Amino acid sequence: MANIAFIGLGNMGGPMASNLLTAQHQVTVFDLSAAAVNTLVERGATAANSAAEAAQSAEIVISMLPAGKHVESLYLDDKTGLVDHLPKGTLVIDSSTIDAATAQRVGKALESKGIYFADAPVSGGVGGATAGTLTFIVGGEQAVFEKAKPILECMGKNIFHAGDVGAGQVAKICNNMLLAVLMAGTSEALQLAIDNGLDPKVMSDIMLQSSGRNWTLELYNPCPGVMPNVPSSNQYQGGFMVDLMRKDLGLAMDTALKSQSATPMGALSQSLFAMHSKSGNGNRDFSSIFEMFSKH
Ligand code: NAD
Repeated sequence: MANIAFIGLGNMGGPMASNLLTAQHQVTVFDLSAAAVNTLVERGATAANSAAEAAQSAEIVISMLPAGKHVESLYLDDKTGLVDHLPKGTLVIDSSTIDAATAQRVGKALESKGIYFADAPVSGGVGGATAGTLTFIVGGEQAVFEKAKPILECMGKNIFHAGDVGAGQVAKICNNMLLAVLMAGTSEALQLAIDNGLDPKVMSDIMLQSSGRNWTLELYNPCPGVMPNVPSSNQYQGGFMVDLMRKDLGLAMDTALKSQSATPMGALSQSLFAMHSKSGNGNRDFSSIFEMFSKH
């Protein structure tokens, strides 16, 4: 049983912290939202009044925050940054999806004080966080990965070591950029079939057994009515929001600029999802991009 501080109890962090409690860890929690803290306290967590208070007797600190600026401020702020409060030997795991450069800056500062750091962004969404089946994509030294793995296994099913600090973030946004491209491309192909008189279910079955096969067709068909229990068959509610996909595509484009990589498909997907969001779809599931092709 480990003594863990968990900072950031939103849609993802709340259920992740809850799974650590289920695994019998001692969890102290902090969030700017008192309601989020109370939900975890009802499940057996201890409440703290600040991140520093939550972390003061923790062996492990886990953060699950919206963006890079929140992570940077949590660890490196001049006055309240945890870098000046954590004892040597503490293990810090940041599971937020942020840019690799911020993860590396935070990692370097913590490591200079003898604190272990890994970036460990996740794939699997709120459903995966609740079920404890997330995929963790970890960046950090091998020894740090080994330390983090048993803890991450309480919240996830697949734990990958992508490389050094920052590599987890790079791997995560490469995956999500491909997912955006696949979702837009699959929608385009399905609508082309429909416009030419084909049944989208039959077309999906054909592509699933042909070279167009991909994850969106297997598990997340974007055309309403083709597949039960997916957002497209529930007015695109639940799932992974368009605006979160936009955030990840923005991170992918920033990364591509730095590495001077050519990402024309990613750039086009970023524009498509931006237009879709601006039409009022930011809070809907990202498979609703199908409507850009079907509603004209
Ligand atoms: P969320 O907005 O639901 O939760 C963020 C939480 O952080 C909120 O409760 C907020 O009050 C808290 N917070 C913000 N600043 C804080 C601070 N300084 N100190 C303490 N708490 C603070 O976001 P989420 O959906 O849980 O996502 C968290 C991260 O996970 C993001 O980086 C997101 O990109 C990533 N992610 C989300 C999903 C998803 O499906 N929601 C999937 C994969 C990855």
